[in-house]
Amino acid sequence: MTQQKSFAAHDVGTLYLVPTPIGNLEDMTVRAVHVLQQVDLIAAEDTRNTQKLLNHFEIATKQISFHEHNTQARIPELLAKLAAGHSIAQVSDAGMPSISDPGKELVAAAIEAGIPVVPLPGANAATTALIASGLPPQPFMFYGFLPRKASEQKAALTALATQPQTVIFYESPYRLAKTLTSMAAVFGDRPAVLARELTKKFEEFARGTLLELADWAQDNARGEFVVMVGPAPAVEKAPSTVPLPEQVQARIDAGARPNDAIKAVAKDNGLKKQDVYNAYHELEG
Ligand code: SAM
Repeated sequence: MTQQKSFAAHDVGTLYLVPTPIGNLEDMTVRAVHVLQQVDLIAAEDTRNTQKLLNHFEIATKQISFHEHNTQARIPELLAKLAAGHSIAQVSDAGMPSISDPGKELVAAAIEAGIPVVPLPGANAATTALIASGLPPQPFMFYGFLPRKASEQKAALTALATQPQTVIFYESPYRLAKTLTSMAAVFGDRPAVLARELTKKFEEFARGTLLELADWAQDNARGEFVVMVGPAPAVEKAPSTVPLPEQVQARIDAGARPNDAIKAVAKDNGLKKQDVYNAYHELEG
């Protein structure tokens, strides 16, 4: 076990994980601006893109590139700076670092090296979409991008088909209609919601079934999308063909106390405890 006291005095630097807006610059938090101003270095997915944000908020901090293609090479360099007492903020192009974006390897390496890792709350497309979807907001599962290869995508969807929770995906507009059709083939034509261009001028929600949305997406797939699929419908359990007294006896034989066995059998069969008790003791109901 290890413990991190984020704001205690440390003789190493801190790695801050700083979310950036997903479209609307006003979603930058005051704290995010302060942290980016105060750190020694910003590790950015795309330094040119982040420079625009820094200019807008008058942040003069130096940047270093940190993206999926230089992650492994950069980590030792960044850890050395942190170990020497420099603080670093990691940002991606938009939203939360590490959420379908670079960051997780750096976080793991920093934790391993005993560097405090401090996350800031802020913009994230998945949870922003979820709260306005109208689908059950919890439990939910965030999946992110599905594999692109058809066979791998089908395997991933099949593994998700019985999830009794809302599942959130990211998808490119170019693949949206096809992916929704594939989802309907594996999940059935379930309720789903598309959140398009969140926080931007053309923000839009399309709510319907997967096939309705696939049809809609043929002509409307422009911009960035979050895809949310409603929970798998509850599977009706076929009633057991084993007589109730035998079900109770089997549980007692397996070590359950009679009262617990009766309770469990009642639950399994959707019956009242008293009915199972009566059946077990051959009493008239
Ligand atoms: N780290 C980001 C976050 O916290 O949401 C996600 C980055 S991921 C590379 C980009 C994907 O997120 C897009 O392809 C889209 O699916 C989704 N996304 C990002 N911004 C969005 C927005 N404004 N509206 C809808 N979806 C968005």
